[in-house]
Formats: sequence, C-alpha cells, structure tokens
Amino acid sequence: MRISGSIAMRPTILNPLFANAESLKGVGPKLSKPLERLGLGRVRDFIYHLPTGFVERKRIENLDQAEPGEHIIVEILPIEYKSAYNRGPYRVQAVDAIGNHISLIYFGRNTGWARKQLPLDEKKIIAGKLEIYGETLQMVHPDHVVKPGEAGQIETSEPVYPLADGMTQKRLAGLIANAMAETPDLPEWIEPSLMEKHDWPSWNDALALTHGGENERARDRLAYDEIFANQLALMLVRAANRGRKGRPLTGDGSLRDALPLPFELTGAQKRAIGEIQGDLEQDTPMLRLLQGDVGSGKTIVAVMALLAAVECGKQGALLAPTEILARQHYESISRLLQGLPVNVAILTGRDKGKAREATLMGIADGSIHIVIGTHAIFQEAVQYKDLALTIIDEQHRFGVSQRLMLSKKGRMTPHFLAMTATPIPRTLTLSQYGEMDVSRLDELPPGRQPIDTRVISGERLDEVIAGLARHIEKDGQAYWVCPLVAESESSDLAAAEERAVQLKARFGDKVGLVHGQMKPELKDAVMEDFVSGKIAVLVSTTVIEVGVDVPNSTLMIIEAAERFGLAQLHQLRGRVGRGSDKSVCLLLRGNGLSDTARERLALMRASQDGFHLAEEDLRLRGGGEVLGTRQSGDNAFRTARAEQVVRFAPTANDDARLLIDRDGGLDSERGQAARVALYLFERDVGAMLLRSG
Ligand code: ADP
Ligand code: MG
Repeated sequence: MRISGSIAMRPTILNPLFANAESLKGVGPKLSKPLERLGLGRVRDFIYHLPTGFVERKRIENLDQAEPGEHIIVEILPIEYKSAYNRGPYRVQAVDAIGNHISLIYFGRNTGWARKQLPLDEKKIIAGKLEIYGETLQMVHPDHVVKPGEAGQIETSEPVYPLADGMTQKRLAGLIANAMAETPDLPEWIEPSLMEKHDWPSWNDALALTHGGENERARDRLAYDEIFANQLALMLVRAANRGRKGRPLTGDGSLRDALPLPFELTGAQKRAIGEIQGDLEQDTPMLRLLQGDVGSGKTIVAVMALLAAVECGKQGALLAPTEILARQHYESISRLLQGLPVNVAILTGRDKGKAREATLMGIADGSIHIVIGTHAIFQEAVQYKDLALTIIDEQHRFGVSQRLMLSKKGRMTPHFLAMTATPIPRTLTLSQYGEMDVSRLDELPPGRQPIDTRVISGERLDEVIAGLARHIEKDGQAYWVCPLVAESESSDLAAAEERAVQLKARFGDKVGLVHGQMKPELKDAVMEDFVSGKIAVLVSTTVIEVGVDVPNSTLMIIEAAERFGLAQLHQLRGRVGRGSDKSVCLLLRGNGLSDTARERLALMRASQDGFHLAEEDLRLRGGGEVLGTRQSGDNAFRTARAEQVVRFAPTANDDARLLIDRDGGLDSERGQAARVALYLFERDVGAMLLRSG
C-alpha cells in the first residue's frame, strides 16, 4: 500500500473554510458566547451546521384561512399593548384585514423590542406559528416582522437550525449564508460509479441543497463524505501500523504459569488471551480492541498480556481514565501478582516529590516492570527503559489522537491493546474501530446472579429511601446516582449535593458524595471509605460510571433514569452484581415519558446483555441522532446519523480500499481530493501518525 507523500499539510484550498468565525461578515464580539456554545468556531463549522427541519409557511389574506398549528405569513395591524404586572409575557393585540384578533406574545423582559417591531396603528406583515390559547388566536415571538410590500422578503420555506441563547434563526441563517458564500469548489473524492449509482450531487451542491430544503440525497452525500474520511483515516492508521516494526513477545510462560488464578478462566477469556498472544508474537505491533461488558473480566486478560511482556524482559503500561480506577487496578493487580518476581508501580498526576522521582528512576532503569496510572505515565518526563506493550482501559474515554500519542513512547512501536466496556454494535465496530482487530468477551464469569431491575416512579422517593434504610441496616452498601440535569456539570452537581444533604440528614456519616469537580484526593478519600465500608451510601454524579469495583455494594439507585442513554444505564447497573449476593437496581423515572424513554427502561428491565442492549440502543436512536455526544467522545461524527453510518460504513470502507489499492493512493488525482476530505473532517490522524512514526 502506498501512503507516501506529505499529508501533514492542510491543502490550501481549504484555507477559507478554516478561517475563524470572526472573519465572517456579521460576527461580532457579542456573538462569541452563543457561537462557542454551538461549536461554531470556524467558517467550516457554519456550513456544516445543518438544519434539523424546515418550516413551511402559507401566505394568507386573513386568519380565517389558516388552522392553529400552521405557519403563516399575514398582514396585521397592532392596536394595543398589554403588559402583565407580574412578569408574565408582554402582549401586542392586533387585528387582521377582516377584524379577527390575534395576540402577539413576547416573553422576557425586553418589552422595548416588541414596541419597536410593532408600533401601534402601523400595518405589518408577520410570519410565525399560529396557535390557539383558550378562544384566543396567538403567535409567540413572530419569526419575521416586515413592512407591507416587503412580504416577498419572507421565505415560505425556511430551515430550522439548532440554536443557543443569544442567537436567532434569522441571524444564524444569515451567517450560514455568508459562510456558504466562502465555499470553494472542491475536487471530487467519491468514486465516480458510486456518485452515479446514488445520483449524488457534488459537495458544493449537496451543501446548498441541504440548507435549502428537505433533501435526503444531498444529506446522504454529506454523511457519506464524513464516513468515507473516517474509514480512510482508520485505514491509513492501520496501514502505517502494519508498516512498522514491533518486537515479537513470545515469552516462556514462566510468570503466567506461576500466577495463582483465583478462578477458572471463562471460554471467552481464554479465547481473547489466545488472540492477544498470537498478535504479540508477530513482528508487527498489535493493534487490538478488547470489548467486554462490565464484569466480563477484562483485567485478567490485560494482566496475562502484561506478564508476557515481562517474561521477555520488557515493560508494560496500563493506562486508566481516572485516578480512582488507576489505583484500583494497581491494588488488585499488585495483589494478584504477589509472590511473583514482578515489580508494579503506580504513577498519576498526584504522585509528587521523592516518591515520584523514585518511580521515574525505576521506569527508566527497568526495575519497574509494569506501570499503572493515568495519562501521567505518557508525559515527556517519563522515560521507559523498554516499553513493549501499552494497554488502555475504558477506551471510550480517550480520543483517537490520544490513542495515537501513546504509540510515540518506546524505542520501537509498542504493542497496543485497548479495552472497552461499551459493547459497540457489530454494525458500528467498523466505523468506530476500523483500524483495530477486535476480541470480544461475550460471556460473563459463572455464578453471577442476574440483577433484579425495577422501574419505579420518582414520586415514590420516600419508599425508596425506606428501602435503602432497611438495606443499610443489614450492612448493605448502595450507589445513588443523580440525574444528568443539563449539559452542564454544575447543575448536575447541584442535584447530587441536594440529594446528599437530604440523605445525610437521615443516615448521617454513612453517606458520602463524589462528583467530577472534586479534588482527586478528596474523591479518592470518599471512594476509599466506600470500598472499606465506612460509607454505606455513595451519592454521585455519573463519575462512578467507569470500572469501580465494590462487591459488597448490591443496591443501585438511579434517579431520573429516563435521561440516561441505554448504554450508560447498563454501565451504571454493572457496578452492582459483582459479588455472590443478589443485587437490585432501581430505576426512578419521571412523569410524561416519551415512548422511546419508556421502551429504554423496559429493555433495561428485560435484558442484562450489553451487546443486545447496544443493538437496541442503536435501533431506538434510529435515524434521528448524530453519533458521538457528550458521553461518547470517540470518533464522533458531526454530520452522519447513526443510521447513515450503519448504511454507508461498509461501502466507504470498500471505497477507501479501492482508492488505496487500485486507484493509486493519496498521490493520485482522487487521492489528492481525498486528502481534502480528511482535513475537512479533521480525520488527519493518518498524518499525525506518519509524523510521529
Ligand atoms: P471488567 O474490567 O471487564 O469490568 P473485571 O476484570 O474487573 O471486569 O472483573 C470483574 C470481577 O470478576 C473481578 O472481581 C474479577 O476478579 C472477577 N472475575 C474475572 N474473571 C473471572 C472468572 N473467570 N471467574 C470468576 N470471576 C472472575
Ligand atoms: Mg475494568
């Protein structure tokens, strides 16, 4: 495979698209907050800020010609202002051409705005959604208000864009139009026969069509671009990896045979260990993902791989996403390896001074064989004597670029194993982890009891707390997870703090609180108290999501469970059911659930199979959602919806392979165009890898 030539430079044709938002006409300092919230930092982001739908408006002479619910364009005459005393909305009373009344409603305190837009006794053309409230026709915040005679300025079909406070549809549409005016003609990167088969428009036309109206073909093309760029990037990473030299780690089995295993390995574990061993023995570095549900026993698989490295006189590193998890791994792995001639050390951002120096020395002179820690283990100051294997746990917490950064350590490319408890549907593995080989732990260790999962109305909180009291009396421990309130950590935190105060009033010192904004030392202290049993109830935001292991905790309470995704609920539930005792998971729900939320909770009750739940999650999310949200940062798609990823990833994979194997690679004409696509979607990971390698 040819991947020669520099792809480290962004093609100049893209420069206008990567200019800062401030370079756009109409963007001033006042807009910086809303633009930031919407993720609109560069011109490119505007053209890819796609409409979620369109309003279709009817031009009418008078209000008799429309039904409530319709979007209309109509001439009215404002006749009276009605301000409410107690901060209610501000109303402008108006009449249409034949004397029908309508209230134009403005929320918020800026009543000056309504008066300015709608002076009394001056006819205006307004556009907006007609509603009925009791007997009265009304319109809340008209979308447009113009002078008579300018009705033509109001479009009958208009895109609806995701908004943030301080930004209006009209404003945003204007900015997007300005950005669209900057778009260059880009060379075509899609294979011609594929273009023909789907009858796809060019990139430029596809964007214009997508902003201009409902057009599935155009949207598919835009989604395909992103999926193709993603597949190509993954393929380049894979190819680059294949081209590198690694060192075969065969090992004599002396440590692995001597390891006193506290249990019999499951079939799935044996298979995964075998697959990993097979990779380690090659002279190309391993690039493998170990997928296994919470509790499926990934740690021991990792330990076996690490021991293989140590048997060869080399070092291994295990990276965890959080301090707590790193410490837990350190403790359980140290315990497991007790008595073996293996030195395990922990290194996190918290280790400072003399102890840190000693650890760094040990890593540099090779007396430390296995290093466990947070990302601190890959900082510049850390020099390994001979790192041969890197493992990262809870892979979904790390992005691709972090994944790649790890490969820079070590004299030759270390073998690489990523582990994740997120059971990705088979149909998505290609797009999420196409550069890796995959091992699956699809079998839980024996003796696990199913977790009794119940859905309860949140209004029965008192009963839940009474149940918790009985549980604590019997020396049980419990997790209490507070809801995701909003897309903001501080409001999540407020909810957790409030609940902790309430529970402390009842259970005193037996209640602890952890959240994401706590100092790591404090958080660990609370976690340690929970592990040791000093604390019986651990109230938290979702920070406990990953990996914490407290077998005595057999009760999980999740508030406002309908706000969590299926995958996340499953992860949370996986914190219990770790010991031999029966565990219970209570999902507290709010009122007025959507059908999807209802179905999600029902699925949680019916199934404990992470892979099954992941497939269902994908089905429920259906066409609507773009993959990659706050919870799943990895390989996020900006444009492609889950359904499109499933539909197009295999084709994009073939297309990318054709380009590289048949059509001359990145140096060919289409290859040059494909580089543009890589940069457009910032999938220039291939470039990063080539540079670092
Ligand atoms: P994961 O990281 O996949 O969520 P862990 O590696 O933490 O799971 O394992 C969960 C628990 O199951 C641990 O307490 C571990 O000791 C135990 N365990 C792992 N494999 C087995 C097995 N084959 N039989 C019995 N218990 C096991
Ligand atoms: Mg784990």
